[in-house]
Amino acid sequence: QNEKDSQFIVSNWAKDHYQKLLHETEEGESIGLSYLMQRGLNQTTIKTFELGYSLDQWDDLLKSAQKEGFEAKYLEKTGLTIIREDEQGKDSGRRYDRFRGRVMFPIHNVSGRVIGFGARTLKANDKTAKYLNSPESDIYHKSDVLYGLFQARQAIRTEEVCYLVEGYLDVLSLHQGGIKNVVASSGTSLTESQIRLIGRYTDNVTVLYDGDAAGIRASLRGIDMLLEGALNVRVVLFPDGDDPDSYIRKVGDQRFKDYLEKNSQDFITFKTRIVSQEAAHDPVKKAEAIREVLQSIAKVPDPIKRQVFLQQTSTTFSIDEQVLITEYNKLVKKDS
Ligand code: ATP
Ligand code: MN
Ligand code: MN
Ligand code: MN
Repeated sequence: QNEKDSQFIVSNWAKDHYQKLLHETEEGESIGLSYLMQRGLNQTTIKTFELGYSLDQWDDLLKSAQKEGFEAKYLEKTGLTIIREDEQGKDSGRRYDRFRGRVMFPIHNVSGRVIGFGARTLKANDKTAKYLNSPESDIYHKSDVLYGLFQARQAIRTEEVCYLVEGYLDVLSLHQGGIKNVVASSGTSLTESQIRLIGRYTDNVTVLYDGDAAGIRASLRGIDMLLEGALNVRVVLFPDGDDPDSYIRKVGDQRFKDYLEKNSQDFITFKTRIVSQEAAHDPVKKAEAIREVLQSIAKVPDPIKRQVFLQQTSTTFSIDEQVLITEYNKLVKKDS
């Protein structure tokens, strides 16, 4: 039995343990489960995603693992426990649980094995981070994982599109609302290897990031990376202050689906609207906006698609296509 197998086994055991705590203890039910229900999640969703709860104690997981005979080093390597250092910064030999008093979101690889955890605090004004994640380990490489992909992969194939959201709760709420082809990059900004992973299932991605300045910035970054990965990109913007989870809770499943239909824009339209918001009557800003869009088009590997996008941009901005192509060629030369 090798190193990785041991880490898989301890992670799977921890997932079972957190699930038992959520469903079978007074603290788990009254704090963890009631929180999840208050966020609108039902038993089916909670079971499908194997959600759990970690007790608000220093060493519940550690002690339970010892009783089961797990070696401390595997808890350590998977980041389930943390070594307490002495004043000299040396290993004091004492350990404590990383996740305490949190709702636990197991992170699965594409074959459904648990490789790490996300964990949300339940305290309204916690001084620590709202979300904690497992650290990198031999089995968990953040940048190679998409949260929810294991539960989404079939639906992505049949629907022929993958919805990309920011957070755990966005995945859970949409899945529960019947939109099962949804994944999150969870905490990291989108990576090339996550994009390649999506590409194994579909060529089409629709970005559903939070409707705030940070979400829009992340969408703009994400679009260029997805284009470079040869994927077709659409974007849906949510009202300011809403994310997919809060919005589907607000309007209900059907109206949410209608909203996606009506508000899904191709990346050129989206980018044009964002970058030219103040450019309407300012020729200098308009020129900048056009160059921004051209930059994104330059990322598209397929020359035929590039041509189509250039035509579309020419129409959108009412700019002569030849002028645009000349400008595009200059831009590409400058960058290479
Ligand atoms: P909630 O609805 O539970 O408040 P959210 O998913 O809407 O959570 P956001 O603040 O929009 O939270 O963040 C999006 C995602 O980014 C989270 O789901 C989480 O994966 C990650 N994240 C947010 N805050 C942190 C943090 N402090 N540390 C690590 N990851 C974080
Ligand atoms: Mn946000
Ligand atoms: Mn949210
Ligand atoms: Mn959010």
